[in-house]
Amino acid sequence: MPLIGDYHTHSVYSHGHGSIEDNVKAAISVGLKEIAITDHGFMHDFYGVRRMDLQNMIDDVRAARKKYPQIKIYLGLEANLIDGTGRVDIEEADKEWLDILVCGYHKCTAYTSAKEAFGFNFPNFISGLTKFSNKQVVKNTDAYIKALERYPIDIISHPNYGIKTDVKEIAKAAAHYGTLLELNGKKVSMTDEEIESILDTGCNIIIDSDAHSPQKVGYFGVPLSYVDRLSIPTERIANFDKLPRFRRYRERVDG
Ligand SMILES: [Zn+2]
Ligand SMILES: [Zn+2]
Repeated sequence: MPLIGDYHTHSVYSHGHGSIEDNVKAAISVGLKEIAITDHGFMHDFYGVRRMDLQNMIDDVRAARKKYPQIKIYLGLEANLIDGTGRVDIEEADKEWLDILVCGYHKCTAYTSAKEAFGFNFPNFISGLTKFSNKQVVKNTDAYIKALERYPIDIISHPNYGIKTDVKEIAKAAAHYGTLLELNGKKVSMTDEEIESILDTGCNIIIDSDAHSPQKVGYFGVPLSYVDRLSIPTERIANFDKLPRFRRYRERVDG
């Protein structure tokens, strides 16, 4: 299989069905060289990781690294973009343990203030059911760009899933920071034109499963059909026949 790493998978610590070890074993069985465990961010109302479970996650990953030295295991988070100022639901101290930071928009996260609830969270929730105004699209795009400035985000998960943004503008900022935009294994929420516009900016993409069960780890059928149909150059896919070197890793190692 040309894709040798899966950098967006969920475990029972959020709302996945398998343990961290189950995901790791599944990754090995399908021939992956690297896997990231990226459960949902802390401020999701229903399935965010609980702070009290964090040490157990860290311990589980350490144990799995010892038991399965043949695969590299990253511990990360699929953090939530939670307001229009680009705030993401991690604290400064989380950078100590985060090997990889995935960030995406999800409905039903906690609010940072009444102003943001009425300016960002509620309007996006309602627009997701009806239609996004141009004003909201501009505001959302700006929120993502600010998040890229504020946090060492490695991957933006499922762009335009549940939210509407100007993907090309986000991709320009992402290219600047070395952040990757994801073609998500469950669903690609961008139009063909939007995907092509990402490539025009110089931003690279990554393909992840977003597995919520071990059986789906390393399953990339949906995004690969896009690669095929849109003739996306495989050198622009960070985990195609090569291993990505993430922004967060680079900042840690290179300073
Ligand atoms: Zn997600
Ligand atoms: Zn996810």
